[in-house]
Amino acid sequence: MKNIVIFGAPGSGKGTQSDKLIEKYGFKHISTGDVLRDQIKRGTELGKTAKGFIDEGKLIPDELMVGILADVYDSFGKDHEGVIFDGFPRTIPQAEALKAMLAERGHKVAAMVELHVPDEELVKRLVLRGKVSGRSDDNEETIKKRLNVYHTQTQPLCDWYNKEGLFHSVDGLGDIDRIFGDVCEIIDSFTCQLVYLSTRQLNKNKTQDIQICQNQIS
Ligand code: AMP
Repeated sequence: MKNIVIFGAPGSGKGTQSDKLIEKYGFKHISTGDVLRDQIKRGTELGKTAKGFIDEGKLIPDELMVGILADVYDSFGKDHEGVIFDGFPRTIPQAEALKAMLAERGHKVAAMVELHVPDEELVKRLVLRGKVSGRSDDNEETIKKRLNVYHTQTQPLCDWYNKEGLFHSVDGLGDIDRIFGDVCEIIDSFTCQLVYLSTRQLNKNKTQDIQICQNQIS
């Protein structure tokens, strides 16, 4: 099972790349932004709380987000290829909570892939998206706030994942399929490493090493 964090600023293309990954690899998908928008549409308590934060371009408090995450993750069951986390984590406490939630289930994050896009391009894309999406937060004033929140609270996660040995970055400017190719290369190279490791370890002490490899792959 491969759990992938698709990471980047608002407008970096996380949703677009997630859709393509789902189609190619059959991953499940958690977009915390989509979950919150659905709660708003359904008029739930969480939705009412979330709306204020979203319209202000601010992050929803970590405790609320972490609670939602485990529920959605568990709803997928155990029999799947892995999960793409899109829009989560956005803070270091969220990354720590994700790690702990997965560890409780004997799982982990396999890779974090950043889509790197300069701010000027992000603003252009989001303003354009706002014209069709009707999203209350895709207007110029809120976009600026969201980018500021991204740089101060979310971007430090690149270092955090780098220390975990899981950080990868892709140039998110340009052709969607080229970007997708780069993302797939990371995911595929990761699978190859595991297979290589498995064969190497299997050559030594078979029974014990099969267990080690199974743990690494799952
Ligand atoms: P997105 O669709 O991912 O751009 O998210 C839209 C908005 O939902 C964000 O600007 C935040 O207000 C909120 N949101 C989504 N995911 C999170 C998260 N992981 N932590 C806190 N707030 C979030």
